[in-house]
Amino acid sequence: MLTIKKILQEAILALRKQNIDHSPRESRILLAFTIGKSPEYVFGHPEQSVSEEHYQLFLEYIVRRSQGEPLSRIMGEREFWGLSFLLSQDTLDPRADSETVIEAALKHKPKVEQPLHLLDFGTGSGCLLLSLLKEIPDAIGIGVDISLNALQTAQKNAFFHHLNDRAFFINSHWGHALQGTFDIILSNPPYISEEDFKNLKDNVRHFDPYRALVSGMDGLECYRALAQDCSRLLSPQGILVLEIGENQEIDVIHIFKSNYFKYVTTYRDLASIPRALVFNLQN
Ligand code: GLN
Repeated sequence: MLTIKKILQEAILALRKQNIDHSPRESRILLAFTIGKSPEYVFGHPEQSVSEEHYQLFLEYIVRRSQGEPLSRIMGEREFWGLSFLLSQDTLDPRADSETVIEAALKHKPKVEQPLHLLDFGTGSGCLLLSLLKEIPDAIGIGVDISLNALQTAQKNAFFHHLNDRAFFINSHWGHALQGTFDIILSNPPYISEEDFKNLKDNVRHFDPYRALVSGMDGLECYRALAQDCSRLLSPQGILVLEIGENQEIDVIHIFKSNYFKYVTTYRDLASIPRALVFNLQN
């Protein structure tokens, strides 16, 4: 009979024979995912039997993991701002660095009477918009993406977090389909240059969607497009919070200053890298 303990031992042995690096902790997480239980359950029930079908599925996952596929991609979900988000092929795998955008938005959110209107450009899994909606209970928001598939995933996440009455999704190339003004505009746009893409780590290059990563020759193309649309769509008292890549702070500030924005401040991520820029409109 196949038991949890036996399966973990066999998987580890099989991988070792092929000289494949593995982490017993990850094997346990993947087995738990396969059989639909928690990793604690797997840890506490070594004698529990496992079906042949589950065993085969588990081996498949282990092989994918050993080929560099991130755990979050295999399991189709990732935790962000303490919430769990479904992923799909067309969504970026949310990074902890992007939590800096939420932190900055909460610190600078406009103090107005009426419920805040939020807008998230390139919403992907919806992680930025939905996390911020969770934090601001009476706000409503729109997530925009050029990928219909990504929007479906974002919509599922909105349902899952009971935010479907406050989160709406629109298929648009940046702001083309939008009118009106918003109090907080967020974006973690693609910001990798075509050249840098070639040197990205395999686990990013192979598993995150190209369209969510790359932004023209110099990595700044999406900021140029956003600067124009955001100056039209930001309310007079509103704030714009943008994620940036390494060494892009000066260039991005320059682009937005040339489009009527006033630079407010920079937030750094946990590695002390400038990660989120805050702007408002000049009076
Ligand atoms: N806003 C989404 C995120 O932060 C997607 C960003 C993107 O695709 N560049 O994960």
